[in-house]
Amino acid sequence: MSNMKTTGQQHGRRSWAEPWKIKMVEPIDMLDDEGRRGAMEEAGYNTFLLRSDAVYIDLLTDSGTNAMSDRQWAALMMGDEAYAGSRNYYRLEETVQKFYGYRYLVPTHQGRGAEHLISQAAIKEGQVVPGNMYFTTTRLHQELAGGTFIDVIIDEAHDPKSEHPFKGNIDLAKLERVIEERGAGNIAYVSLAGTVNMAGGQPVSMENVKAVRELCNRHGVKLYLDATRLAENAYFIKEREPGWRDRPIAEIVRAFCDYSDGAWKSSKKDGLVNIGGWLCVNDFELFEELRNMVVVYEGLHTYGGIAGRDMEAMAIGIEECMNDDYMHSRIGQVRYLADMLLEWGIPIVRPTGGHAVFLDALGFYPDMPRECYPAQTLAAKLFLDSGVRGMERGAVSAGRDPETGLDRKPALELVRLTLPRRVYTQAHMDVTAEAIKAVWDKRGEAKGLKMVYEPRYLRFFQARFEPLE
Ligand SMILES: *Cc1c(COP(=O)(O)O)cnc(C)c1O
Repeated sequence: MSNMKTTGQQHGRRSWAEPWKIKMVEPIDMLDDEGRRGAMEEAGYNTFLLRSDAVYIDLLTDSGTNAMSDRQWAALMMGDEAYAGSRNYYRLEETVQKFYGYRYLVPTHQGRGAEHLISQAAIKEGQVVPGNMYFTTTRLHQELAGGTFIDVIIDEAHDPKSEHPFKGNIDLAKLERVIEERGAGNIAYVSLAGTVNMAGGQPVSMENVKAVRELCNRHGVKLYLDATRLAENAYFIKEREPGWRDRPIAEIVRAFCDYSDGAWKSSKKDGLVNIGGWLCVNDFELFEELRNMVVVYEGLHTYGGIAGRDMEAMAIGIEECMNDDYMHSRIGQVRYLADMLLEWGIPIVRPTGGHAVFLDALGFYPDMPRECYPAQTLAAKLFLDSGVRGMERGAVSAGRDPETGLDRKPALELVRLTLPRRVYTQAHMDVTAEAIKAVWDKRGEAKGLKMVYEPRYLRFFQARFEPLE
């Protein structure tokens, strides 16, 4: 076992522990070398195409992979599966209103359901949507609604070495320029996500959202939040921003939301459930339209594609994710893994974000051409070494420019190791770190991959590759 468990204690820090104990376990095991090789070939060197049974430690995503609490499991028995007006809907509505502060709630089956509705309702053909770095499904829905996403995140977000404490912030000068060049009437809304998934789970400061709000007010532009990871974002505000240290996570989340006109959320992330999402707005007319559309695409407005029992678990998940001790252990586990890698000199995105450790594939393979997909290659190597599953966040995920049809070349070429919430122990993190170290030590041997099948939308999910070696 790694002797790196003492990380932190060397600096005199006392250890923290998770504010829960384990009541039920799900056995896992590692395939042998040959089994892992066969599985990787069958999956076309795309970790999304692996069967989960072939995976030992699954860090593909933190989406819907959360372990629910005993309270949430018990709540499933309290599902009111009425088609209309389920009591679970009203509990969810009350809980969202209390913690996020918005007036009107529309439940959706998951985050992209909410993104679809808000994009169709609030974007007119030809309008632009400035935001703090794209997210795959968010941008696609904005484009499908006739909008164009414009990235106005601060430059530091694109630099994996920058130690800026709030790399998710919007660059106010960039935003102002977009508004002035396009005209306020051509801005559908500003799309602000905290934390920023694609930048490495990097947070947005309270000062920034306040300033964005003021700028939007001056031009009469709406501000909507992607609140999918906002409780995790709040932890960083508490930790890093003057004036917030002694305030509970819940209070910080509420203060942040109060600067916006509405929000959408995938509850599969910091909402601590396996499925579900919602959309909230303060404007009644917009709400009426959304409530109308949800019936067409998701389900009646009092269930929106989710079972009553799942709405009940969602409501409890909201309360649990606002628990400060829980959030400390959540972010603490991400840091524990990151700190081990840093001690070994392995290149990762700095500073460590809220939900994942991002390996810098260009640091692993500086001489590999981008056309050979360094991050896709690294993710495949990691699985081959020890059955640890991560995912590519680089050129494959970025896709093609809809106008030129050419591959986008994002500044960041990363492998994301995402930690499911309340699922793995520190020993799993030790094993993961050692697997990464083994791949790092053999980095000179990697040749890269070529894409042999490319789907039209969100290609990273289903693309297939072959090794160049
Ligand atoms: C996952 C995610 C979404 C999409 O939510 P789904 O529930 O997967 O549809 C949107 N925004 C962010 C920031 C996310 O992380």
